[in-house]
Amino acid sequence: MERVIIIGSGPAGLTAAVYAARANLNPLVLAGGLYGGQLMLTTDVENYPGFPEGILGPELMIRFREQAERFGARIENVDVTSVDFAKRPLAVRTDDAEHMAETVIVATGASARWLDIPGEERLRGRGVSSCATCDGAFFRDKHITVAGGGDSALEEALFLTRFGSRVTIVHRRDRLRASKIMADRALSHPKIDFIWNGVVEEVLGETRVTGLRLRDVVDGRTYDLGTDALFVAIGHTPNTGVFTGQLDLDERGYVESPDGTRTNAEGVFVAGDVNDHRYRQAITAAGAGCRAAMDAEKYLEAREFKVDSLARL
Ligand code: NAP
Repeated sequence: MERVIIIGSGPAGLTAAVYAARANLNPLVLAGGLYGGQLMLTTDVENYPGFPEGILGPELMIRFREQAERFGARIENVDVTSVDFAKRPLAVRTDDAEHMAETVIVATGASARWLDIPGEERLRGRGVSSCATCDGAFFRDKHITVAGGGDSALEEALFLTRFGSRVTIVHRRDRLRASKIMADRALSHPKIDFIWNGVVEEVLGETRVTGLRLRDVVDGRTYDLGTDALFVAIGHTPNTGVFTGQLDLDERGYVESPDGTRTNAEGVFVAGDVNDHRYRQAITAAGAGCRAAMDAEKYLEAREFKVDSLARL
């Protein structure tokens, strides 16, 4: 029987692991086959406090992991396949094992969204990507297009200027959603140009991307843009598939929490992007992981106190 199982290994899960381990709860972290969360797919992180020169996302996550392990967290790179939060103890299953726990912290984060347009899936890995860090270098001296208007899209575009001869950002409105600092950088970058009020309707190409069919949302005109790659950066979907029917989810699929860490299932706490569609920052996820671990610890203490009191009667 585990005292606490943490599902997920981004900033929320690993911060929860540091706190739970330092509270002597000996946490088991089911980190997912691809551990580390979204920062593993990013480059420079410039806004995580404590790193004045910035730090690479994967390096930051390695440090989180080492810190959790230093205090005794056991981290397994496995995916959770199902959970049962209706019975006690709580059950968490992977392909190879069924774990029982008094408390669970859900920190499974969110994943990049796709446009769901013709050609997108067929040409994934052949010019269509959602990860500039992973695939940008394949498009040296090529024309690259990025879809989206938030910080992710601009971050991807700025990174891709290292490789591409030209980077075009296609955004469906005439105003960016991104933060001002990122917008200023992209708008003034000599290699970046913008297509405003544009929607990508189809990815063109037989064996690799050769272009995009775009629609102008103002005048309805459809036209083709020649390009060698499409990087999709249009936001995220929470990773809550295994919790359907087990935890209350909102209409967008995020785990609901009345106070920010508790869920509808007793003993199950939540932290990070899986419950937060507003801030979605590494630092806010880490803070939430800390809160969830402290709340799990308090919950366990209160239960022990109750059991002791009953035993004394
Ligand atoms: P986001 O802020 O939700 O932006 C998503 C963008 O994609 C929006 O511009 C949206 O258009 C567009 N979009 C959504 N669905 C679309 C569709 N079906 N077709 C075309 N366009 C679509 O998501 P994000 O950029 O991933 O950022 C998420 C959070 O992480 C934010 O809080 C952001 O600040 C943070 N973040 C920060 C950094 C950084 O500071 N360096 C880097 C990355 C992310 P509309 O604008 O019309 O809605």
